Amino acid sequence: MYKKVKQYGIANGLTVEEKAGLVYGLINGYFVLIQQYPTTDAKHTVYLWAKPGTTQPVPATADYLNQSRSRFQYLQSASYNGSKITAEFQGLGFQWGQKYVPCLDAFLKEVTGYCQSNGLLPCCEGCGTESGLNLYQVDGYGHMLCSSCYSNVAGQIQQNALKKKQQGSGNVIGGIVGALLGSLIGVAAWVLIYQLGYISALGGLVMVICSMKGYELLGGRLNKLGIAITCIVSILMLLFAEYICLSIEIYKVYNDWSSSITFTDAFYSVPYFLNEPEVMGAVVKDLLIGFVLMAVGAFGTIKQTYKENTGTVSTRMVAPVTMSSQNGMNP
Ligand SMILES: [Zn+2]
Repeated sequence: MYKKVKQYGIANGLTVEEKAGLVYGLINGYFVLIQQYPTTDAKHTVYLWAKPGTTQPVPATADYLNQSRSRFQYLQSASYNGSKITAEFQGLGFQWGQKYVPCLDAFLKEVTGYCQSNGLLPCCEGCGTESGLNLYQVDGYGHMLCSSCYSNVAGQIQQNALKKKQQGSGNVIGGIVGALLGSLIGVAAWVLIYQLGYISALGGLVMVICSMKGYELLGGRLNKLGIAITCIVSILMLLFAEYICLSIEIYKVYNDWSSSITFTDAFYSVPYFLNEPEVMGAVVKDLLIGFVLMAVGAFGTIKQTYKENTGTVSTRMVAPVTMSSQNGMNP
């Protein structure tokens, strides 16, 4: 978390959750959340939850926010959807280190002041209710909700996760066909790269990725069984690809001497040549590099698909939101 924002939070009596990258609390009686971007220091999203009171319709507040962009140097965008103000801040350019937090502070003071003087009411972003509110973090993002809206959101997420889990775990035959078809692309890549004289091992990477994508395409979700099948298919197909390369080499050499030798002859003579320690050594070296690159490709793909498929969205309650008594009672 950016140190100066943390200091700002502490100095203004806000709660700082450094690990989660959150600073939140009441400013001018409105609950505000400042959320740190995980990758960039001076980049934050500011949330303020409030619905229009009697005087100010939604578009007026949206307009106000839109215009405020010209007054705050580091405000990238600001919007209002009727229950939640979202503002993106990023420190860019010359001397932002000195001016970023003061800019953030000025915006927070002004926007909460605006809410106060226009009678906006703090509320649940789902249903607009004004009491029993909590701050939640859903899939990394902050939300202020009442408990019944939260259970709706959480239930929805769980259902989606369940759906994904059930989806296409069954069609193993389709998966095998997909894996085989995908791996053929890898075989082609391996043979082609070999002919061009480069390290054919790159074909191993192509093979395992295409095999896994093929499995997903025809078999559905890449589960543990799918991973096992695609890995076995890829290993066998890599051996097959190397075998074809050797056949081609043998065929080329013998074809120079006599045109009567066919590719099939060359194909069947491979085991004989593998008895030569020199040939065997080169083949083993090719295969080892191929397997290493295959493992790299498999690891990356598995990691990615698991992220997409497990559907584990983390949700948690961050803190109960208690409003000071002055809310909604301003003239
Ligand atoms: Zn609600």
